[in-house]
Amino acid sequence: MTGTSDRVLVLGGGLAGVACARRLAEDGVPVTLVDRNDYHQFQPLLYQVASSQLPVEDVARPHRAIFREHATVEVVTAEVAEVRLSDRSLVLTDGRTLSGSHVVVAAGAQPNFFGVPGAAEHAYPLYSVADAERLRLHLQDLLRDATPGTLDVVVVGGGPTGVETTGALAELMGALHETGRLAQPGRITLIDRGDALLGEFSEKAHEYAVHKLREAGADVRLGAGVAAVHPDHVELDDGASIPARTVVWGGGEQGASVAGTAGPEPGRGGRIDVRPDLTIEGYPGAYAVGDAANIPAGETGTWPQLGSVAQQSGRWAAENILRERRNEPTRPFRYKDKGIMAMIGRNAAVAEVGKHRHQVDGPVAFAAWLGVHMMLMSGVHSRTDAFVTWAWDYFDRDRAATIEVSSAPQRIAWGDDEADRPHIALD
Ligand SMILES: Cc1cc2nc3c(=O)[nH]c(=O)nc-3n(C[C@H](O)[C@H](O)[C@H](O)COP(=O)(O)OP(=O)(O)OC[C@H]3O[C@@H](n4cnc5c(N)ncnc54)[C@H](O)[C@@H]3O)c2cc1C
Repeated sequence: MTGTSDRVLVLGGGLAGVACARRLAEDGVPVTLVDRNDYHQFQPLLYQVASSQLPVEDVARPHRAIFREHATVEVVTAEVAEVRLSDRSLVLTDGRTLSGSHVVVAAGAQPNFFGVPGAAEHAYPLYSVADAERLRLHLQDLLRDATPGTLDVVVVGGGPTGVETTGALAELMGALHETGRLAQPGRITLIDRGDALLGEFSEKAHEYAVHKLREAGADVRLGAGVAAVHPDHVELDDGASIPARTVVWGGGEQGASVAGTAGPEPGRGGRIDVRPDLTIEGYPGAYAVGDAANIPAGETGTWPQLGSVAQQSGRWAAENILRERRNEPTRPFRYKDKGIMAMIGRNAAVAEVGKHRHQVDGPVAFAAWLGVHMMLMSGVHSRTDAFVTWAWDYFDRDRAATIEVSSAPQRIAWGDDEADRPHIALD
């Protein structure tokens, strides 16, 4: 199959790709969106799936359902083997080549194990719904005949992913213990090479995160690097060893491997360097957005890999493509900074918002988190009210005593059609 010449190709149906395709479709532009999965995955809630607090269907939504009202968007479920920016085409692993007037690389990122021996083989990354479901099933398996120590977990990386996952797992262990399902809760140890958690946040937030995690029963070890990951323990740089049959990798990410096939020399973190208007130097009609791109942020370097950057850059690339189609000049990307935030557990969240990054925690921070995540979700779900109800219930109420690891956790009441279930395969 070959696309028509005025078709825009979008590689990736994450927050960036979906926002881009939707904006183009609003103006009736033909779009082909290609993703290896037939569903969009909402990464900010993956740790909720891993810790059995949300079923996997709630964080994945079929692309077909997202674009049901957008007749000009064609969704192709296929793996892209190669991006050819020079002729604006995508080569699929099934042998097909798609071409278009423009190509937008929105392929996201993937875990970076930084060459730590054993990490790729034995650690559980948390980057896709399949990753989250795999971790949940692994924990459930261990729980079946748990003896002291079986459920000990090491989480590598003290950024938002590591902190949020540690908080959720510590709560899960506490709940299993309180309900009598586990005589001795698994020990959750968070390790980071640096001297603070949530490095990008202020000092007050660093202390808040450590305090809240320790309060939830987790152990936090700073200034400790992981030298190797083994099936039943983690080896540290200083020769110490921590027994754990579960190692969660929140230790870093890099641009999706397919971005490396595009032509330009990959930039920092294996991502594609883009110009201020999100185009790629030397390749007319080519854009890169979201986690796959290094997006210039004036004098302060590049924008971080955040959902709101992905969503806004995807939409901005679409606006620039529309300008190109009208023979108008493209405009440099302007990011509306929503702040940075992390939910550490029930009743514990931290956020830094506003121009001067004002720090707030507790329910106010949770409200900020909710506002931003509602906006992210509104790109893929019409029932954001259902998400808000679920989230307040999660944050506010001590439902710990009702958590059941082996039965279905409480769902978000999307009211979706049964036929809209995503096809999630764990390979
Ligand atoms: C665990 C976790 C928690 C997070 N929490 C937050 C948070 O609380 N707040 C926040 O703002 N941000 C958060 N983020 C970051 C945010 O989720 C990302 O910045 C955002 O999702 C990036 O969107 P994207 O569209 O660029 O990439 P993605 O969402 O990764 O989408 C990329 C898409 O490309 C597809 N793809 C890749 N390669 C190929 C290929 N070769 N062939 C076909 N398809 C391909 C993938 O299947 C995927 O659907 C979190 C990230 C993670 C991992």
